[in-house]
Amino acid sequence: MLLKHTPVEIKERKALTVNPAKTCQPIGAMYAALGIHGCLPHSHGSQGCCAYHRSALTRHYKEPIMASTSSFTEGSSVFGGQANLIQAVDNIFTIYNPDIIAVHTTCLSETIGDDVNQICQKARDDGKVPEGKYLIHTNTPSYVGSHITGFANMTKSMVKYFSESTGEEINQVNVISGWVEPSDMREIKRIAKDMGVKIVLFPDTSDVLDAPQTGKHVFYPKGGVTVPELKSAGDSKFTLALGRFTSEAAAKELENKCGVKYTSLDLPIGISATDRFIAALSKAAGVKVPDIISAERGRLVDIITDMQQYFYNKKVALFGDPDHLIPLTEFLVALDMRPVHIVSGTPGKEFEKRIREILGDTVPDANVKNGATADMLLLHQWIKNEPVDLLLGNTYGKYIARDEDIPFVRMGFPILDRIGHSYFPITGYTGAMRMLEKILGVLMDRQDRDSLEESFELVM
Ligand code: SF4
Repeated sequence: MLLKHTPVEIKERKALTVNPAKTCQPIGAMYAALGIHGCLPHSHGSQGCCAYHRSALTRHYKEPIMASTSSFTEGSSVFGGQANLIQAVDNIFTIYNPDIIAVHTTCLSETIGDDVNQICQKARDDGKVPEGKYLIHTNTPSYVGSHITGFANMTKSMVKYFSESTGEEINQVNVISGWVEPSDMREIKRIAKDMGVKIVLFPDTSDVLDAPQTGKHVFYPKGGVTVPELKSAGDSKFTLALGRFTSEAAAKELENKCGVKYTSLDLPIGISATDRFIAALSKAAGVKVPDIISAERGRLVDIITDMQQYFYNKKVALFGDPDHLIPLTEFLVALDMRPVHIVSGTPGKEFEKRIREILGDTVPDANVKNGATADMLLLHQWIKNEPVDLLLGNTYGKYIARDEDIPFVRMGFPILDRIGHSYFPITGYTGAMRMLEKILGVLMDRQDRDSLEESFELVM
């Protein structure tokens, strides 16, 4: 019993968070920045923050995450971090030679009130940014929002710093990827290619955080959206923002700055959200959906039809990031499952409203909560009060799964104790097939484990 102190009785809490269902803003900014080609993320704060953010990403992606830090000491904490940041910019371009340094702040630099925009401008004015190189920034105070907010802020900064309108429209569609795995970003590009649509996908961590082992260390792998691509996003026909929480801010900024219209969509997770993505891409580009994509959908429908009896009426608890949970809940409902407990540590009023709309009359009494007090303790208490057949979420769910003996499928961020997420997508129709396989695997393993000898079946 690892969480043996979790009480069954739920008490109203106003300020206390126990085992948060989120992590800190700069991690998101760091991950987004790695989705620009040749970019070195830079943490403006103490070394400890940067070490934690790097290790969180390294453990999830199983890749060495490179990032630099302003290395605040007691002196910079009192007098401000301007000197440290300017020195860092000079050192980084001289020694590590990235194309871009993407600066994000931390609790410390935000609390002392460093004006990072002004400091970056001073670095440029002082000639610390070589010709053809870039220094960009975003603010990521970690005492508000979550890693999702940090990701959204850095993605918006990409538009702010780079996108421009020349007045000449280009026959391409922007797709703002949202926080998904490199494998999902690769899958979105594959779908667009199969549909014959030219897209600018940003951020894009494919071929950065899933780069092949070649025996040779490359400081800046070949992947990532390029600066010319980000610039050209201002001339695109249209923008699809995938995931309102992570991508809408950047899409709005692009519309305001360059006049590129956008629509916000859910991440293409599950059948209905993928349908909407494919339809929106086809409309934006003015192309027909090719047979190859329709066939993928057909195969997904076939699996659902064949295995429906294993999904029917199963109760599910899920937790994680809002942009994942919204389409995932919709997918579970489509499978005739019953999502009864849903928790996200990321704040935002839209979340519960959307989830309730999806659940409708199917699961009207579901427990749904997000924000600071929507934590793993609350999820565990809900499960103790109403047990479930399946738990879906990141690695932190393994303690609850073990204590309550629940089949557990790892999904979301972070996954620290399994592999596969970087290489096999959960987006699109094929991604939905992978999710089905994983869910069915744990449900059927459980049935095998718990069957009496006389009802233990070879063919299920
Ligand atoms: S101090 Fe703030 S930015 Fe640094 S690791 Fe903690 S929460 Fe994150």
